[in-house]
Amino acid sequence: MSESEAATEQRCVTCGINVTGTNAATFGCPSCNHQLHRCPKCRKQSNPYDCPQCDFRGP
Ligand SMILES: [Zn+2]
Ligand SMILES: [Zn+2]
Repeated sequence: MSESEAATEQRCVTCGINVTGTNAATFGCPSCNHQLHRCPKCRKQSNPYDCPQCDFRGP
């Protein structure tokens, strides 16, 4: 069994918590369409995020 990064795990792109099983928002990066997730708390606060794939920064 491999303990390396689970492909199914979804992390908030802003604060990094595991959002699997929560009602986190899932959306495509406006720049590269990479799948991003954001927890309800960060979405409510409109925290900025950085796309891990293309370094796009957005609200
Ligand atoms: Zn968050
Ligand atoms: Zn991107």
